[in-house]
Amino acid sequence: MKFKVVGGGPAGLYFAYLMKRSHPNYSVRVVEQNPSDATYGFGVVLSARALSFLEGGDSEAIARLTRRMETWGEQHIVHKGVRVVVDGSTYFAIQRLALLQELQKLCNEAGVDLEFGHRINSSVGGEDCDVLVAADGTNSAIRDSHTLAFDTRVMDLQNYYAWYGVEKPYDAHTLTFAQRDGDILCGHHYRFTPTMSTFVAEVDAKSWLSTGMSTMTDDERKRLFEDVFSDALGGNPLISNQSMWRRWRLVKNGRWYYRNIVLIGDAQRSAHPSIGSGTRLAMEDSIALWRAFKEEGTDVEAAFRRYERERRPVRDKLNRAAERSIDWYENMPEKMDLSPYDFAYDYLLRTGLMTSERLEQDSPKFMEHYRKNVDVVKAL
Ligand SMILES: Cc1cc2nc3c(=O)[nH]c(=O)nc-3n(C[C@H](O)[C@H](O)[C@H](O)COP(=O)(O)OP(=O)(O)OC[C@H]3O[C@@H](n4cnc5c(N)ncnc54)[C@H](O)[C@@H]3O)c2cc1C
Repeated sequence: MKFKVVGGGPAGLYFAYLMKRSHPNYSVRVVEQNPSDATYGFGVVLSARALSFLEGGDSEAIARLTRRMETWGEQHIVHKGVRVVVDGSTYFAIQRLALLQELQKLCNEAGVDLEFGHRINSSVGGEDCDVLVAADGTNSAIRDSHTLAFDTRVMDLQNYYAWYGVEKPYDAHTLTFAQRDGDILCGHHYRFTPTMSTFVAEVDAKSWLSTGMSTMTDDERKRLFEDVFSDALGGNPLISNQSMWRRWRLVKNGRWYYRNIVLIGDAQRSAHPSIGSGTRLAMEDSIALWRAFKEEGTDVEAAFRRYERERRPVRDKLNRAAERSIDWYENMPEKMDLSPYDFAYDYLLRTGLMTSERLEQDSPKFMEHYRKNVDVVKAL
């Protein structure tokens, strides 16, 4: 069989690797618009749970990726200048470029044909293969050639964000909320190499206007964040890598396949970074599509049907969680009066996936502090 994968991000590369490894006689080709060493952004974070799901594809490949990752066992939530420590969850992070390059190596070793610096502008030409895998991200050109067939819906969310780096290694995955003159600014920061961290900067729609950010240049916006977050940044500048301020684009598709074309990763459904799972979801789609072909052999239609049938319920559950998380961030102003522990508790429960009982189990130290804090506040 002939597979053509458009997009050499985590979804496209992991799928191509799994397919070629299990079916060395198939032709698997990845076409990526960028050079092999170019990428946007800095590091991505994955929970230990997410990594264990990805091992369902190939545990050796995931072990190779894990060796290049930073890891830590706490989450910190800083509100009103108070650092709340949430114990009990292990996270991993990796430079996005390191992730892609390791996946490229795996593909090369398996015999995948990788072609860089070639942009495919539409699905025209998809007739030269049995399966055209659209793994070309949120703004997928392949998907957009057939928006009616895929029942594509696109929505821009309210908050604005930019993805920066900073030369400072944080001890834990940290969320820092800052208030200035009634404006709310937020930084999500975590280490992805021994010396570097990602810093995702975010503001709600109202603060975007009231801070004047809406009329600033990207440089001025960066300076504003450097100023407000100078303590958290340890005085270091934010590093830009085409770090543009924008609103998050939520893309949904009513149908996941059409003719010989199938959608995976962000092309299928963009995942909001506040549940930290975009890379994991994209790579899990790859596993699900690969498994469907393992089950259905060369029957493309049956494989696509199986992929959507088995993957959709899991995706839907996480999408609902992401939507609740988006709602929390878009309504940040309403939360700002909460005490730091109440705030952290509210944050941790925002997706509906975490419950109070699970927190008791997973994060006993946090819950002990939380209860003490609630008692103190009640006594006041
Ligand atoms: C601010 C921010 C923070 C994030 N934080 C995290 C995080 O902490 N953890 C996490 O797991 N995820 C995070 N994500 C999400 C994550 O980056 C994506 O969900 C994930 O990369 C999706 O993988 P993908 O392979 O589907 O798409 P992408 O990674 O977008 O890859 C698509 C690839 O296709 C290529 N391409 C696009 N169009 C074409 C074309 N027409 N022809 C040829 N090639 C094309 C692109 O160059 C790209 O290489 C974050 C995203 C953002 C924006």
